[in-house]
Formats: sequence, structure tokens, C-alpha cells
Amino acid sequence: MTPHARLIAGSRLPEVGTTIFSVMSALAAEYGAVNLGQGFPDFDCDPRLLELALESMQKGLNQYAPMSGVAALREAVSGKIEATYGRRYDPNDEITITAGATQAIMTAILCAVHPGDEVIVIEPVYDSYVPSIALAGGMPVRVQMEMSDDGFHVPWDKVGAAVSSRTRMIAINSPHNPTGSLLDEQDLQALAKIVDGTRILVLSDEVYEHIVYDSRIHQSVSRHDVLASRAFVISSFGKTFHVTGWKIGYVAAPAELTAEFRKVHQFNVFAVNTPLQYALAKYLQEPATYAGLPAFYQRKRDLFRSGLANTRFRALVCDGTYFQCVDYSCLSSMPEAEFARWLTTQTGVAAIPLAPFYQGGKESRLLRFCFAKKDETLQAALERLASI
Ligand code: PMP
Ligand code: GLN
Repeated sequence: MTPHARLIAGSRLPEVGTTIFSVMSALAAEYGAVNLGQGFPDFDCDPRLLELALESMQKGLNQYAPMSGVAALREAVSGKIEATYGRRYDPNDEITITAGATQAIMTAILCAVHPGDEVIVIEPVYDSYVPSIALAGGMPVRVQMEMSDDGFHVPWDKVGAAVSSRTRMIAINSPHNPTGSLLDEQDLQALAKIVDGTRILVLSDEVYEHIVYDSRIHQSVSRHDVLASRAFVISSFGKTFHVTGWKIGYVAAPAELTAEFRKVHQFNVFAVNTPLQYALAKYLQEPATYAGLPAFYQRKRDLFRSGLANTRFRALVCDGTYFQCVDYSCLSSMPEAEFARWLTTQTGVAAIPLAPFYQGGKESRLLRFCFAKKDETLQAALERLASI
């Protein structure tokens, strides 16, 4: 044991290493690979948003924001949710601005999950959920999505069977990272049937809410009475406005849940970046700030998929998010992490293996590509992918 290991006296997260997103981005940089791994755009946001950010800073809006978020932004978020999903959240008591969705997820779990509580997660599961549950002293209970020709689905009978007297929360994510699948109205009804009349809360990660394709409708939990009454609904401006580095998101939840959320939030970050909150509040007032997002990304999805048709990768269904999963089984029998490494170092394209989204690293010969990239970046990647 090293002296440092003795000082820390055991890890709170013994099974956790560096996230796969950081690992693949570092490898892509080291080998000069086209980075379709970690999910972030390689193009800039609307210059208008930058103007608003600068304006806020120049106006001197540079000191602490209120703990729950700048009032104008909470009001704008409330208005956006009401206009989009038809539910009114009180900006004073039911909306909190967070340092991205990651902090919102961690904080919601820390405030609601007590030691020994169970939280049902659906695999493949976004990497921050299980460590957040572990830090709260909770126990993750995993149910795997099932794959068919029309994509990945949640088997609600298995979710129902996983419920026990200790179940405190069910965490869902739609549009879903990494599979690109969506929950539909029947899915939400099935979930509502499971939680109705119980003490089970819902954590609904909706960070890709505005990125859905083929005229589909995002089924926000906030549309649904039974679910909304017990849910933390979480989103992030990073995805919607191409500013993943700004790390600003929000949680909408009934007043009772929001009060508990804020107790943890105030000692977790206290308050979020002030000038950027003002900039986002103003930007949200301007027309069509995210209305064009589905068409914008659908064109990229289609461009990327039509290029993949000239490769030996098999593209799976992608109904939402900016991720495209592919099956590489006719190219290689290497395990996913090894194949992703090989692809990055030998072919010059970085991707994310799906195995880390499963306990024990389930192997399905699947990779995830991020297509939130300039057309020329996608073309460069496709040329390389077609060469193997
Ligand atoms: N949830 C999901 C499903 C995500 O894909 C991400 C990041 N892309 C997050 C949460 C975290 O969002 P943020 O960057 O705003 O913390
Ligand atoms: N959510 C992003 C993705 O899925 C990564 C965010 C991160 O690196 N933590 O790629």
C-alpha cells in the first residue's frame, strides 16, 4: 500500500477509473484520430449567444448568482417547458439551474437516495448514474434494454419485477445515450403503472430532448401527471445550444422535491456561472433558438448513415440524440474496448465502446459514433471507415 492509499483509507468508488469519454478523447488526441468518441460538437454555437455572453460580462454581471439560479433564466426555462410539454413549473419553487446535467443527476440522487435504498437503472446506462448512487450509499439494480430490428426497448415487465420494498428511484433517459432510442407514450404509461401509489421517485434525464428525428415527439415525463408529480426532470443547455463546455443545465421538480434538491445543491456548487445564465435567459426569449435542431441533426445523421452504407459497419436504428451505434461483428471479433482502441490508433477514427455502459462490460460488438460534427469531419471519418 502506498502512503497515499493509507491516507485515503479505501476508495468510495473502488470500481471506478477514468471515464471512457476521457480515455477515448485522450487516445484520439495522441494519435491524431478523427474524434467521433466523446459527445460534443466540433462546430461553434450561434454567434448571437456569444454576443449575449460578452454583453452580460461587460455589464458587470460577474458575481454570485442566486443559489437556485438567475430568476430570468428560471422563468425562461419554466416558459419553455410549458410551451413545449404543457406543464407549468413555478420558477421560484420548482426550477433550479445546475452546473450541467451531471451535477443535477448527482444532486437529485444525493438528496433522495438514502443508504440501503435501491435505484433501478436501465442498461446500457450513462456512466455517471451508478457512481452517483454509490456515493449516496444506494444500490443500483440493473435491467437491460432489449434489442430488436427496430432498435433498443425497455422491458417494463422486467423493470416491474425488479421493484422491491427498498426501491427509491427509477432512472430513465430519453432520447437515450448511447443507443439513440426514444421512450414513447406507452413506455411512460408502463412506467407510471409501476410507480403509481408507491414511494418511488423518477429521475428523467432528458438532455437530448430537442434532438429527435423523423417527426417524432419527445415524450417528456413532464407531459405526464403521475410521473411529473414524483420526477426530477433534467436537461442541459450544452446539447441544445452546442455549448457542452458551458456546463449549465436545470432540474424541474415539484416544490417538495425541489426543496430537498436545493439543500444539497447549495453545498454542492452553491450557484452556477452568472453571466452565462443571463445570456441563456435572453437567448431563450429569441425566436427559433432550438426549433431547427431536429432538422439540423437529422441531416447529419442521414449523411453519416449513408456514408456508413459504404463500409462494413452495420448502422443500428437512431431515432434521437447525436449518437449512431454500429455493429462491427462482420469486421472483427475483438472485444469492444480493444476494437475501439484499434480503430483509433490504426484507422484514425475514435469511437466509444458500449461495454462500459454495462456492469461487467457486456460484449455485443457495438460501438457508438458521435455525428455532432462538421460535414468535413464526418466525411474524413467515413473515408477512413470505408478503408477497412
Ligand atoms: N446525461 C446524458 C445522457 C448525457 O449524454 C450527458 C452528457 N452528454 C449528461 C447527462 C451530462 O450533461 P452535462 O454535460 O450537461 O453535465
Ligand atoms: N455525455 C458525453 C458523451 O456521452 C460525454 C460527457 C463526458 O465526457 N463526461 O459522450
